Amino acid sequence: MRLLVLTDIHANFTALEATLQAAEGNWERIVCLGDVVGYGPDPNEVTSRIRELGAVTIRGNHDKAVSELMATDDFNPVAKAAVLWTRAQLSNDNLAWLAALPQGPLEAEGVVLVHGAFQDEDEYVFTPAQALEGLLDSTTQVTFFGHTHHQGGFSYQDSELEVLSLHPRSNESRCALRLESAKRYLLNPGSIGQPRDTDPRASFAIADLENQVIEFWRVPYDISSVQQRMRAARLPEPLVLRLQVGR
Ligand code: ZN
Repeated sequence: MRLLVLTDIHANFTALEATLQAAEGNWERIVCLGDVVGYGPDPNEVTSRIRELGAVTIRGNHDKAVSELMATDDFNPVAKAAVLWTRAQLSNDNLAWLAALPQGPLEAEGVVLVHGAFQDEDEYVFTPAQALEGLLDSTTQVTFFGHTHHQGGFSYQDSELEVLSLHPRSNESRCALRLESAKRYLLNPGSIGQPRDTDPRASFAIADLENQVIEFWRVPYDISSVQQRMRAARLPEPLVLRLQVGR
């Protein structure tokens, strides 16, 4: 069974469609690690598409903020403006779906899904110290996380934690990680709709646990069309500009 792993789509329908097109025929099940909406111009289109695809989805901090399950006090002014705009756009039906999303960690399709850290869905995992808890406490060999918008990950075996470089070169669309049965993994597929690891291409992963291979993908998409929709919606300019630099 090949599993398509998406996260941090952030209401970017063009990036989502480019992803689905690139991955077509390459997956049987689909999971999403949260932040379906927030920042981008297409909250209804993306939410409806994810629902239609039947993706096993957990909530991210933006999904919570938009659904008023979380205060926006911790959000910077730009993120907060996007939350308010998004809430006003969403249909009642899509808003209710987002509000009802389960919280990670959630075990599904043979892996564990978390949005941020294993013990706290809103915490970021950038460093080995922050990754350790998830590597030790998760209930499956492979755990997927999002939230940082950085493609990459960590492995753990016999008290040794390794930082994994899992990023296709700029002229390549994918790279593969071969799993070792004695190791545990905490892996981030990277963000579909707003990458921040200096590569503006949409990023995702395809996991084939039977064959113990996980592919990390990057696909280009029409960034300027998304920027046009963002400007038409008067979303904050810093959010518009960051898409083309991927940070
Ligand atoms: Zn996010």
